[in-house]
Amino acid sequence: MNYYSRHGLIGPGDGLDSSRRSSETVSKTALVTGGAGFLGSHLCNRLMRDGARVVCLDNFTTGSFENIAHLIDDPHFATVRQDVCEPLLAEVDEIYNLACPASPPHYQADPVQTMKTNVLGALNVLELAQRRDIPVFQASTSEVYGDPQLHPQPEGYWGHVNPIGPRSCYDEGKRAAETLFFDFARMHGTKIKVVRIFNTYGPRMRPDDGRVVSNFIVQALKGDDITIYGDGSQTRSFCYVDDLIEGFVRFMRAPAHVMGPINLGNPGEFTIRELADLVVDITNSRSRVVHVSLPIDDPRQRRPDITRADRLLGWQPRIPLVDGLARTIAYFDILLSAGRKALPEVVA
Ligand code: NAD
Ligand code: UDP
Repeated sequence: MNYYSRHGLIGPGDGLDSSRRSSETVSKTALVTGGAGFLGSHLCNRLMRDGARVVCLDNFTTGSFENIAHLIDDPHFATVRQDVCEPLLAEVDEIYNLACPASPPHYQADPVQTMKTNVLGALNVLELAQRRDIPVFQASTSEVYGDPQLHPQPEGYWGHVNPIGPRSCYDEGKRAAETLFFDFARMHGTKIKVVRIFNTYGPRMRPDDGRVVSNFIVQALKGDDITIYGDGSQTRSFCYVDDLIEGFVRFMRAPAHVMGPINLGNPGEFTIRELADLVVDITNSRSRVVHVSLPIDDPRQRRPDITRADRLLGWQPRIPLVDGLARTIAYFDILLSAGRKALPEVVA
């Protein structure tokens, strides 16, 4: 596998050679698939801040170079443009598998590719982890619960998922990936960590990402109509990105028998109408709220039961929605004023 840095093409024994490191704290090398995306770029930052070397693998479909541009000159960081569906060869000590578009319009744009990314991507990271006997972390999702009939959702709930609808490529793809993870653990003793992420937001979401928080903020800041799908009575629980990444790190550091699945999300539950009102208030926007049709199979209600995360990881989210929204709005405000696609330098 070749790695790219601002200095050109480098090999694993070159740019990632630990003998070149000045810091004693550089302990291990993490592979982050989907590392140029919203969550992946925050994770790369956090791992490097904690003293790791990071290899970011991404095909840049929904991720962007801007998200990782601030890391590219760091000798502890390398990036490789590759599809996670291709077999992986990398001399790394741990793997975080985040590669997959997360926004409904993006994952539905090419549903076959989404399913392949989930299933073949999981297989490839698992085979690498098994070969090297290293831990592998899977970014699963609250979508495995589908349109839940149990509320809030604990990890023991098997879900209520349409296997043939427009969301299925993502929901069933993530479910199949979880299956592969637990089969590898049972068959080969692979060291797995499976997290189920509930709606997470923050700086470095793309302005055209299509998910609700970024849509509403961009619409409010531009004075465009705020598009509520349906009547806005459906609920979601919104977690700020820094809280989520703290949960990832704690989970990876937890003992090997802690394999998950573990829900990570903020249990504060809001209707989409309440979210629109909050965004309008904080931005002081004059945008109108308009209602458009509700997408097929849009889940009615969603809130994580985070008892397990609290018990096993000592994790609870700390950043309330209003504070996280204010930070995210400040980011988008600068981004839109500057006419840029991403502003990695304004967040830690
Ligand atoms: P994102 O779209 O910003 O990031 C996904 C990244 O994966 C992008 O950089 C994209 O280019 C890359 N990618 C996509 N397909 C790939 C492929 N075949 N090979 C290599 N790279 C590929 O989304 P995100 O919000 O950062 O989500 C990251 C992960 O977390 C995803 O797996 C997603 O399913 C999961 N997740 C996120 C949320 C959330 O609220 N943000 C919720 C549940 C699950
Ligand atoms: N939504 C909305 N307006 C938008 C985007 C989304 O009302 O511009 C709604 C969407 O129908 C869903 C909720 O907000 O009920 C969360 O949507 P998102 O795409 O962010 O995430 P997901 O549906 O995957 O939880």
